[in-house]
Amino acid sequence: MLPSLIVLGAPGSGKGTQALKISKEFGYKHLSTGDLLRAEIEKKSELGQKVQSIIAKGDLVSDEIVLELLKLNLQDNDKALLDGFPRNIQQSKMLDDQLFGNNANVKAIYFNVDLSVLKDRIVNRRTCKACGEIYNVKTKPYAANGTCLKCGSSDIVQRKDDTESVVDNRLNVFKETFEPILNFYRGTGRLLEVNAQQDEAAVFNDLKRLIEIYK
Ligand code: AMP
Repeated sequence: MLPSLIVLGAPGSGKGTQALKISKEFGYKHLSTGDLLRAEIEKKSELGQKVQSIIAKGDLVSDEIVLELLKLNLQDNDKALLDGFPRNIQQSKMLDDQLFGNNANVKAIYFNVDLSVLKDRIVNRRTCKACGEIYNVKTKPYAANGTCLKCGSSDIVQRKDDTESVVDNRLNVFKETFEPILNFYRGTGRLLEVNAQQDEAAVFNDLKRLIEIYK
């Protein structure tokens, strides 16, 4: 694999939004495991049917299924930007063992944000199904006529697991699994960090500076 990046952080920390921007600016191949899994559900594939109820509850899909999906979507000469993977310490190790042979090539960027702001961010999040642009009905609205400001599509949706009833579980899963992941990348000297409490433009500026240094 070519030098690759991982974005790490809680649901709602802004890593998906920034991953889209980084991949465009620096030519990374953006792979969001959540997007890949949702695409399988839409296709009603066997895998999609297997994972649908797990995702609806906000629990984690099995490590093997998600890693397999990643492998299917990655080629040896890809410069990857992973978003949503790893989600636990086992996945961090599997990634090094099975995908990124030379792990010094892979940096993880931690989106550090106060967890108390996340529920509000998540329940107000909307996504353009056509181009993937992410909105927030309070802080980053789409056009008043209901269309995407990027591509003009009117297919703007709320993810099923972005609702009040599922968000608490997703945040709890995050709290239970995240610390060992951070320690893993910190311990191997590959952890970078960005203050994700800032607005979108400021976070992107900080990311650009970091990536320029390490790319
Ligand atoms: P996301 O779009 O990253 O918030 O992911 C949405 C949902 O997909 C999660 O709540 C999990 O159910 C599932 N998922 C995404 N990535 C992973 C992963 N690396 N391991 C296990 N489950 C995942």
